[in-house]
Amino acid sequence: VFDKIVAERSIQMAKKIIDQSCKIVIVTHISPDGDAIGSSLALCHFLLQLGKSVNIIVPNNFPTFLRWMSGAKNIVISELEERIAQQFIRTADLIFCLDFNVLCRVERLAPWIEKSVAKKILIDHHPLPGDFCDLNISYHEFSSTSELIFSFICRMDMSEYMDKNFAECIYTGMMTDTGAFTYNSNRPQIYRIIKELLGKGIDKDAIYNKVYNNYSESRIRLQGYILYQKMKIFEKYHTSLITLSCEEQNQFLWKKGDTEGFVNIPLSIKEVVFSVFIREEDNKVKVSFRSKGKFPSNRFAAEVFNGGGHLNASGGEFNGKLEDAIVLFEKKLPKYRYLLVRK
Ligand code: 5GP
Ligand code: MN
Repeated sequence: VFDKIVAERSIQMAKKIIDQSCKIVIVTHISPDGDAIGSSLALCHFLLQLGKSVNIIVPNNFPTFLRWMSGAKNIVISELEERIAQQFIRTADLIFCLDFNVLCRVERLAPWIEKSVAKKILIDHHPLPGDFCDLNISYHEFSSTSELIFSFICRMDMSEYMDKNFAECIYTGMMTDTGAFTYNSNRPQIYRIIKELLGKGIDKDAIYNKVYNNYSESRIRLQGYILYQKMKIFEKYHTSLITLSCEEQNQFLWKKGDTEGFVNIPLSIKEVVFSVFIREEDNKVKVSFRSKGKFPSNRFAAEVFNGGGHLNASGGEFNGKLEDAIVLFEKKLPKYRYLLVRK
């Protein structure tokens, strides 16, 4: 029933490595999103069923709208519990790297993982995987790492170890990485998997509510503020820009996850094909990109903001002041005018 995208050799190698391991660590990228947390927890549930000792380590905290997932409360947030995180990584015999393609995406965890003598397996769906694992299971054809995890376990012939908690986590990751199945979501396989997940007893409508209808009042007011007062449209380039300073975020009682999804909104304007969100963080500037159609937002992210990601969803960073990041963006944008076209 399912596509056989993942190489059989990789499946067998991974199966053997899992067999030979007891203490397993799962790591995922900084500012974990629904797919990062969903795929990590799903893999964790699966490995626990096999009787392994499993710990998930993330570089920093994740939004509360992901905290309802089974196992989320046991995730070690390295920024808060550095010594525990370091010890788990040091004593692991297998490390899974999920939902990132280059080691710098885990920031301060990177040197520990590099130093570790554990076997390392990358499971990811970003283009251009790096070379820091013993085994790369990296396929950008998958819409999410969660979808890839599901496929991976089926291919190992171990789907009997998928329980309802597992299914909820997989669904959450698949849903959040496709904007609730509104982009990057045309592969029929996605819906075959959803059918299986429903068979495991998940309530997909309840999951949608827990993730998307779970915000604070201040977040919605912040959304109103940015759209009414802050959004700038560059008509010539079919581009929108939203910027947000620390001061403005404090004014609206910003919490982790509050600005998630804002960058998608301007894409609902007919003429806009490229949406940019530049947000000041404690000591750096974080930039998010979204695009419609063929515009390679990840190329812009890589070339201008030292980042990367997918064609239509990417991000990067700027070390400096918010104002300077905005100046840089406005200076570089015209260079992409040939690509910034509505079709
Ligand atoms: P978001 O805008 O939701 O933070 O990120 C969207 C996607 O862009 C992420 O899933 C990730 O693939 C990529 N991304 C975000 N920030 C960075 C970054 O700083 N570096 C790289 N390489 N990719 C990023
Ligand atoms: Mn992902």
